[in-house]
Amino acid sequence: MEDNILQAVDEQRLLDTAKALIAVPSPTLDAGAVADALAAILAEEGFAVERPQADWPQAPAVVARFDSGQPGRVLQFDGHLDTVHLPFVPPKVENGHLYGSGSSDMKGGIAAFVEALRALRDVGALTKGAVLLTAHDHHEAPWGDRRQLLALIREGFVGDGVLLPEYLGDALPIAGRGMAVFSVEVERDGAPVHEGLRPAGLPDVIAAGAEVVLRLNALNEHLRERTAPHVGSDTLFIGRIEGGQIYNQVPVQCRVEGTRRWVAAGSGAAARREMEDLLADVAAASGTRIRLADWNMPGDAFAVDQNSPLVGAFQSAHEQVTGAPLPLGGKPFIDDGNVFMAAGIEALTHGPCAMGAHTTDEQVPVAELVRVAKVYALTAQTFC
Ligand SMILES: [Zn+2]
Repeated sequence: MEDNILQAVDEQRLLDTAKALIAVPSPTLDAGAVADALAAILAEEGFAVERPQADWPQAPAVVARFDSGQPGRVLQFDGHLDTVHLPFVPPKVENGHLYGSGSSDMKGGIAAFVEALRALRDVGALTKGAVLLTAHDHHEAPWGDRRQLLALIREGFVGDGVLLPEYLGDALPIAGRGMAVFSVEVERDGAPVHEGLRPAGLPDVIAAGAEVVLRLNALNEHLRERTAPHVGSDTLFIGRIEGGQIYNQVPVQCRVEGTRRWVAAGSGAAARREMEDLLADVAAASGTRIRLADWNMPGDAFAVDQNSPLVGAFQSAHEQVTGAPLPLGGKPFIDDGNVFMAAGIEALTHGPCAMGAHTTDEQVPVAELVRVAKVYALTAQTFC
């Protein structure tokens, strides 16, 4: 049966689907037309398709089920149909690569999901359980806020385990760090004033901002001690500092922005308190007001049990397709898998080794798309 599944994956059919999805532009918050196109492809193939609005009526989500009719686990294939806001690049296959907007991130991967469903159906390989395919808008930041995925999860469009086809194919990420994007605002009372005319003892927001940077960097040194397998350590990174209007004016405000990442699930609130305590210290010493103006958490840390049925099914599929299991690793970014894990649904990110995500030069080797379609189909057959 495994050989039948592998042979049933059809490269041309997969590429036709990928090109049909890429050909419909779908910048985040505007993925309605491509969702319609995907729903039409799935319905034409005879799969049961639903279109829940899922908190985003502008582009209802796509939900397709392939059910064996027998009890068993449900494997979810989940992907986002929206792409980052860059000039549109039409689909093209050349020299063994698929090009175009979303080819890497992640319409190529969604087409591989569809092809895996077809392969399972064509050879009658799913003897128990079901596969649930979900696709949605609202993923890419800063335009989207993940509301459609959150609504799908809330409304019960979930499996017992989920695969996500983000462009990560050379390690199986079984752990990932949580992250907060922060901005600190340093202010003083009064108006801007010429530096030669300032009263004695006027608080210096630039110096206080610089002190915040030094103290946060010192904290970062301590954070290196908080480690976890596969993901490294907690970190605090400052990417931007801004304050003042001209060289000889005493300003009233300074901003410091960066990221705080952590390895232990659920430790975002403690990380926030730790930073607020440090800011209160600097404020008291400098006579300024300092507040954490933003603290946005796109995802929490997670760890997958490496002995879980999903990891086992995935690794046996990977071994059958490539000859070896995939090395275990950490996930270098936050994706929708962090959201599923926070909701208690085990999620594995595995997609084609693709290039150029978030650029106008997206490209993915056709062989990689075929490879992941085979891995997805075999994982479903074993897991369900
Ligand atoms: Zn993506």
